[in-house]
Amino acid sequence: MKDNGVYAEISDRLGVKAEYDASLAKMCSYGTGGKAAVVYYPDNEEAVRLLDKELKEKGSPFVYLGGGTNVLVSDKGYDGAVISTAELKGITVNGKILIAKAGDRISDVMTSALYNSLGGIEFLSGIPASVGGAVAMNAGCFGKSVGDYVSYVVAVSGIYTASECRFGYRTSRFLTENDGVLSVCFNLDIAEYEQSENKITYFNAMRRSKQPMGKSAGSVFKNDGYFAGKIIDGCDLKGLSEGNAFVSEKHANFIIAKNGAKSEDIRRLIQKIKATVKEKRNVELVEEIRYLGEFENEDQF
Ligand SMILES: Cc1cc2nc3c(=O)[nH]c(=O)nc-3n(C[C@H](O)[C@H](O)[C@H](O)COP(=O)(O)OP(=O)(O)OC[C@H]3O[C@@H](n4cnc5c(N)ncnc54)[C@H](O)[C@@H]3O)c2cc1C
Repeated sequence: MKDNGVYAEISDRLGVKAEYDASLAKMCSYGTGGKAAVVYYPDNEEAVRLLDKELKEKGSPFVYLGGGTNVLVSDKGYDGAVISTAELKGITVNGKILIAKAGDRISDVMTSALYNSLGGIEFLSGIPASVGGAVAMNAGCFGKSVGDYVSYVVAVSGIYTASECRFGYRTSRFLTENDGVLSVCFNLDIAEYEQSENKITYFNAMRRSKQPMGKSAGSVFKNDGYFAGKIIDGCDLKGLSEGNAFVSEKHANFIIAKNGAKSEDIRRLIQKIKATVKEKRNVELVEEIRYLGEFENEDQF
């Protein structure tokens, strides 16, 4: 629905900042992809609820976007609305309870926790996510996930306790139902500042030793019952390239986008990896990254 008139009318009526024909490449960590018909920047929770309702009523497709660190945007762009959470910010701490808004960065949550002698979530250190994206994806590493520390989530459709969030491996009800996460209440552990800081230093060092630099979206494939990186490495696919995208030599589950890379390069590389791993190991790799917009026919490899 590429009708800027309709999108502009919604923006004016609700008083929500909007950008039309907006580049998504600058909003995503791969730095690739085309434009969205509109990106809205609501700065309060009620505005998100109203936007969500309006877009549904008008029949416009829409998605939520946080840090854009797990998304591959089609080079053709997205013919719909993007609701960015970038301006939904504000962290409060009371005892062991930390409440953050969807657009807060996980790194800011960690800093607030640290200065309030709270911990438990140090394992998230270095994940470049927003709070909403991390909770929707149930981001995690080193055997733990963000959902382990969630008390409840305020979403567009209501309030959900942790057990109602349907957290699974890199998924939640918010992701599967495109239900906007507005704010998250974390129940953290009491922690000594120094111990917490040491853990953060340790996790950052682990990350630096294992993960490559460069533009990526972290792990491309899920590690659900197996380590995708090991399987890909075992198929001798490190260094494989398509256009200006290549499989990292340091970590085979990372695809790095060089300058000039197109999303289609990344997509073709993903398809080649999947086909090779299926042929050589009979394993069906499943993408952890999320696609936005339309891509070429999936069966081309
Ligand atoms: C260098 C690097 C390292 C990484 N390491 C890890 C890691 O160790 N572990 C890990 O799990 N991930 C990792 N990632 C991937 C990524 O950071 C996580 O998946 C993160 O949770 C995505 O958060 P985001 O805010 O960027 O979400 P986005 O990329 O903006 O969105 C991801 C998905 O969540 C949805 N979404 C976003 N915000 C909301 C919201 N408010 N409400 C509802 N849905 C929403 C989007 O529609 C999309 O489907 C890494 C990425 C990079 C670039």
